Formats: sequence, structure tokens, C-alpha cells
Amino acid sequence: MIPALDGKVALVTGATRGIGQAIAVELAAAGATVFAGGRNEAALAAMIAASGQAGRIHPLPFDVTDAAATKAAFMAVQKQGGRLDILVNNAGILKDAPIEMTGADMVAETWSTNLTATLTCCQLAVRLMARPKDGGPGGSIINMASIIGRMGFPFHAAYGASKAGVIGLTLSLAKEVAARGIRVNAIAPGLVDTDMTAGIPPDKREAMLARIGMGRAGQPADIAPLALFLAGDGARYITGQVIGVDGGLVV
Ligand code: NAD
Repeated sequence: MIPALDGKVALVTGATRGIGQAIAVELAAAGATVFAGGRNEAALAAMIAASGQAGRIHPLPFDVTDAAATKAAFMAVQKQGGRLDILVNNAGILKDAPIEMTGADMVAETWSTNLTATLTCCQLAVRLMARPKDGGPGGSIINMASIIGRMGFPFHAAYGASKAGVIGLTLSLAKEVAARGIRVNAIAPGLVDTDMTAGIPPDKREAMLARIGMGRAGQPADIAPLALFLAGDGARYITGQVIGVDGGLVV
């Protein structure tokens, strides 16, 4: 059987670890050529070596907040991969603070990483995806939102606003580029065990777990199959959707 993403080229930002790593490996295992974005070259190399997909995952070191480096990275994908079919805007940071302590630097860093960079990557991807190529122009953009962008969370004003922004971006862009065969969807994970959530104090974690219908935190492997589905032809008529993967936290 031909793998679902055979011949497709994907770029996953923030793929050195966590959810991005799981998605990069899932897409590669489905036959895609995957360019794994990340700031740390050594971490990218280690991730690829451990992935079991070393032939299909290629390191693409760049910082998503550096517009020139981001543009160069997309040009490198076009040059080396010959096309771009799938973009997963996964890179993100989370910094929490009471509103009185939410400084301008923290807001700027959070929004530039989570929101502005996502928009910039969408722009660059649309330009490449709209080009003529085998199978016709088009592609799938998958933006990583969060339940916090949908339902809010105390002390997460900057992060929640960035993720609500990602949802607004997804909805508008989906309408704008649908006629060009480009689909734009968002995944809204709940609580997922990664480095990002490792520092949550035990009492707060227990309180969050108590609200999750399935009674457990998610794992990166719980998120990746949705990205694979949205990337593939089975989702060809799906765009502008924000899909929760949260074990029943938001129902
Ligand atoms: P993580 O911290 O393990 O991974 C984030 C990745 O993004 C890392 O590889 C990091 O190096 C990269 N990154 C951060 N800033 C970057 C930059 N400027 N340039 C390039 N790469 C950068 O976190 P994760 O939990 O795997 O998060 C992945 C995505 O999922 C994020 O967008 C996050 O907001 C979102 N999310 C996570 C959870 C959760 O519970 N873990 C819940 C909802 C949404």
C-alpha cells in the first residue's frame, strides 16, 4: 500500500521535542518528507537520530521570531524538497503570570513567537503552496492553538490572547485561501505532558486532571494522529476548523 503522505513535503516548526516532535515523526512515518524546524541544531540532530525516520526527517534550524531566517528556511524547503504541501505551526512558548506582573517584554515575546510567527509562516507557506506542482496547487496548514485560547485560564492573559489570535488567524485565512486549494485548521490541545507543562505544581495539576473527563493528561502521541489526518487527503473537505484534543476537558 502507498503511504498516505507519499510524495508530500511538510514543515513542522518547533519539532525538537514534545508535540512537534511527535507530529514530525508521525508525518514521516506516513511517507512525507519532513523538514523539522527548531532553534537548537544539536537537539534537532538528536531528535532525528532517535526518530526511526532519519531518512525522511531533515533538520531546518531557524528561530520563528527571526523573519529573515524564517523566509530563508521556507526557501530552503522549496529548494531541497521541491514543494511544500503541509505546514504545522507548532512552535510556541508559555509564560504565566498574574496580570499585574505581565510585563511588556513577556507579552511581546509570547505574541511574536505564538502569533506573529504563525502568521508569517502562513504567508510564506501560502506563496509556496499556491504554486503549480504535481497534483495541482494547494496544501494543508495546521496551527497549534490551545484550549486556553478558547476558554481562558487564570494567569494566562498573554498566552491565552496569543492562542485566541491563532484561532482568529486560522478562521480568516481558511476563508481567504480555500479557493486556492489550501486548507487551514487548528488543533486545540488540552493538558499535554511535555516540557511546557512539566513545571505545573502538583496541586494545580491535580485540579486540572479532575476536570478532564478521561482522567488523564494527554501525551504528544495523542495529538499527532489528528495532525496526520488534517494533513492528508481524508481531510480534503475540512477547513476553518478548531479541533480540540483534550480528553473531554471542553465539551
Ligand atoms: P515544548 O515546550 O515541549 O515544545 C515547544 C517547541 O517550540 C520546542 O521545540 C521549542 O524549542 C520550540 N520553540 C519555542 N520558541 C521557538 C522559536 N522562537 N523558534 C523556533 N522554535 C521555538 O511544548 P509543547 O507542549 O510540545 O508545545 C507545542 C505547541 O503546543 C505549542 O504551540 C503550545 O503552545 C501548544 N500547546 C501545548 C499544550 C500542552 O499542554 N503541552 C497545550 C495546548 C497547546
